[in-house]
Order: sequence, then structure tokens, then C-alpha cells
Amino acid sequence: MSLVKEPERKTPLVGDFDVVVIGGGPAGLIAAIAAAREGAKTALIERYGFLGGMATAALVGPFAGVRHRYGGGRLIGGIPWEMIERMARSGGAMLETFDYSSVEERETATEGDSTTLFAVGSPGSLKQESSPLRRQASRGDVPFDPETMKWISEQMAIESAVTLRYHTLAVGVAAEGHRISAVITESKSGREAFSARVFIDATGDADIAVFAGAPVKTGRSEDGALQPMSLLFRLGGVDTDALGDISRPYVDDEIRKKAKQLADANRLPVFGGPWTFWGSTFRRGEVMVNMVRLWGDGTDVRVLTGNEIKARDHIHHFVAFLRKNAAPFRSCFLLDSGPQIGIRETRRIVGDYCLTEEDIRAARRFEDSIALGGHVIDIHSPSGTANQIRKKVDPYQIPYRCLLPRVVENLLVAGRPLSATHEAHASLRVMGTGMATGQAAGVAAAMAVQRSSSPRGVDIEALQSKLKELGAPH
Ligand SMILES: Cc1cc2nc3c(=O)[nH]c(=O)nc-3n(C[C@H](O)[C@H](O)[C@H](O)COP(=O)(O)OP(=O)(O)OC[C@H]3O[C@@H](n4cnc5c(N)ncnc54)[C@H](O)[C@@H]3O)c2cc1C
Repeated sequence: MSLVKEPERKTPLVGDFDVVVIGGGPAGLIAAIAAAREGAKTALIERYGFLGGMATAALVGPFAGVRHRYGGGRLIGGIPWEMIERMARSGGAMLETFDYSSVEERETATEGDSTTLFAVGSPGSLKQESSPLRRQASRGDVPFDPETMKWISEQMAIESAVTLRYHTLAVGVAAEGHRISAVITESKSGREAFSARVFIDATGDADIAVFAGAPVKTGRSEDGALQPMSLLFRLGGVDTDALGDISRPYVDDEIRKKAKQLADANRLPVFGGPWTFWGSTFRRGEVMVNMVRLWGDGTDVRVLTGNEIKARDHIHHFVAFLRKNAAPFRSCFLLDSGPQIGIRETRRIVGDYCLTEEDIRAARRFEDSIALGGHVIDIHSPSGTANQIRKKVDPYQIPYRCLLPRVVENLLVAGRPLSATHEAHASLRVMGTGMATGQAAGVAAAMAVQRSSSPRGVDIEALQSKLKELGAPH
């Protein structure tokens, strides 16, 4: 590759903060609010003009990891729960719980058969509902309206005195030894710097950790392959009454079979699901569709460009397919798709502890636990097929050490890129769990500033008791 030599330059400093959070997704927005409420002078840098990350920029929903799917108990508390309740009070989140005591999930240990189906029956039974609309029960999940999330999360950030900076992309760091002194950004206003005592990387892709030289891993251990991306879309004009209770995602067997025949004959693009339900909508006549599947590295802009173009084209094929083949969709129309393709998996940091599938499945206890996960291990095939692996888990603990990247001293990581294996990541990647780790990161960052220590030096018992005070299970 040819290189261009840039002139050396001095970068204007926007401000000196206690804590700078980069990325305003579920993890970052909660981290910033938590740090600010603990008295830290906090800035939140976000590349889009709104908060929410995948929830608003990729129309991903519902919030998973909020309540345990089987026991029903709440896995998150404190600021994330406050936000969800405020959204619900504004009519922008659906908190009704489902009776799922009699719902059993089939566990697929290998990528054999396509999609795992939920069945309603007595515990232990794998009886499946009959057509026309076999359902997957969403159970502990919370469907919501992305516009309400943008509004409420932003209000909460402002009320907590977070300095918000939108339309600003972090592109590098200035570092002294193993400490980051400033994050460098680019925007319409040019190149700028934000300095702080502690930084929180909530970019979903561990961008800041990489800029600072921290080691990261990607994908499956055997070949680095990543879970696929999906551009979610919403349909209007759907006969939702005919779909039954679509607060629960469902896959119609007949439609799936028909779509598979067409895809096998190269007459329809490779697809997932199709999962059609209320996730990022819950209005009569509207559904969210999760069907697109495209593979590649979500941190490579060439791949991203190609996949955005393909995904949009695929969506039009899928909408035409649903209209033609499924009665409730006969008069449907495409309402919108996310401003960006949804990214399930990119980098994970190498932290002081790496959470594994075994830890999760055994619900191993950790002395430095700061949050609870509980979502199924949910791996959409990294191998270019429509397959999916889903494994049930009990609520499990997430150690603080998973938030601490090796090599860099004053950086915490929250949300998707925590230190975990590919399999463990497939559970903790969901938004409820991301918000919970964001809350812990924000509180820990503020504590580190107050005590002039590094995040590694934070008193775990003090952190845990603060989280308890906030009402956050861990
Ligand atoms: C198709 C799909 C379906 C999913 N389904 C569900 C589901 O049903 N329920 C669920 O709970 N989870 C689901 N997930 C997972 C979940 O959405 C994500 O893992 C979660 O949003 C991760 O949260 P995060 O805050 O770590 O990262 P993100 O949500 O990715 O947020 C990162 C934020 O950082 C910003 N950013 C990134 N880089 C920079 C930078 N360099 N400078 C400035 N800003 C930056 C981004 O714009 C974004 O706002 C799904 C994901 C996908 C892709």
C-alpha cells in the first residue's frame, strides 16, 4: 500500500475530564451516567448523532439479559433498570412478563439443524407448537421503541451532567508509557483531543484498546471466524392479529422451509430465521425482521461497505418473498432498516481474566463479580450457513478482571468486547449484560479517579458495595 506523509500537527484539547467514555451504546451510555453520578467530570464521545448503539443505530431488539429466561429473576438493576422503567413509563418499553415456567428450550450442541425452536409444554418436553405460527418465546426480554431510547438515555445523560459529544469518531490515542493521556477524535470540526484520568472503551469493537496497543482476539479459537452481521428491518402493514402474540419471536416452519428451498436453489439470499416479532417495535401492524446474514470483519470498512450494499438488496428480496408466501405479510411494506448493519462480534480484549463457556455453564462464582449475565449462549454460524447454536445457561457472574485490558493501565472496557472466549461472548454480548458491565465500569472509573488509583487498583469490596447500593445484582 502506498503511504502519504502527513505534516506534523498540534491537536486542540477540548477539555480535561476525570472520565472519558468512548461509544454511546448500551454499555457506554450507562457507564457515562454512572461515572458522572459518582461525581466524576465525564465526557461521552459518540460517532452518531444519538445514543443507543446497536439498539438505535441497528434497530436491534428486544433488550435481552434483563431477566433470566427460565427463572424470570431480574439480572440487572440500578441505572439500566431505571432507564428501562422510564422508557416503559413513556410508552417506549414493554415490561409485561410472560409465564414461561412451562417453556423448554432444545439445546443444540452442534451445528446440525438450522434454528433452535422453543416449545410450549411441560418442563423437559421438547414438544413443538404446530403451524401455522410456531413461536420462539422471548420470555425475559424487553421489546422497546428505539426513538424513546434515544430520548430517555440522552435526558438521563444530561440530567447527570455528562458532557455529550456527538458526530465525533475516536481515531487514536496519545499515550505515555502504559497510560492513555488523551483520545484523539475526528469530526466536522476537525481533529481534537479529550484528556482524562480514566478512559472507558465502549466502542463495541475495542477500538481504544487497540489504539493503545492492548492485545485483542477475534472470533472462534480455531479459525478466527466471526458471527454474521444482520441488517434488521421493520415492516408495516402486517396483519399482526393473525400472528398471535408477537411479543415473542417466532419462526414459521412452512415459511422457513420454503425460503430454504429457494435459497438452496440460489433464488433467495442465505438467511437466518426468519425471526419476525416485536423487538424494536411493538405497534399493531408492525414487526421487526431479523433475516439478513452476511459474514466478514466488522472493523474492516471495505467489508462493511460491501455488506451494507448487499444487505439492502437482500432485504428487498426478503420483503417480496414474505409478501408472496406468508398470508399475514401479503400487504406489508418496508418501513425502515437500521442506519447501519448490526454487528454481533468483532474483537475481544485479552484481559486479566478470560471468561469461558465452562465458567458460564457451571455458574462459577467469582470474588470480584460485578455483574450478572444469563442470556443463552447464542452463536449464529460463523461458517456461512443459516445454522445457530443456542445453549441454556443459569445466571452467572462476570468478574471485574474481564473489564481490564492487559498492557494499558487507565482503561476499562465495557459491553461486547469484554475478555471472554468466543462462546462466552455469545452470551454476554446482549444489551442487558452490556449495560450492567457499563454500570460497573462507570462506577469503578469514578472510584479510581477519587482515590488516584488505576482501575486495577480499585477496591473490589467498595465497588461491589456501591453496586449493591445502586441495586445492581452481581
Ligand atoms: C443482528 C443482531 C441481533 C441482536 N439481537 C439482540 C437482542 O435481541 N437482544 C440483545 O440484547 N442484544 C442483541 N444483540 C447484541 C447487542 O445488540 C450488542 O452486542 C450490544 O448492543 C453491544 O453493546 P455495546 O454498547 O457494547 O456496543 P454497541 O451497541 O455496538 O455500541 C457501540 C457504540 O460506540 C460507537 N462507536 C463505535 N466506535 C466508535 C469510535 N471509534 N468513536 C466513537 N464512537 C464509536 C457506536 O456508534 C455505538 O453507538 C444483537 C446484535 C445484532 C447485531
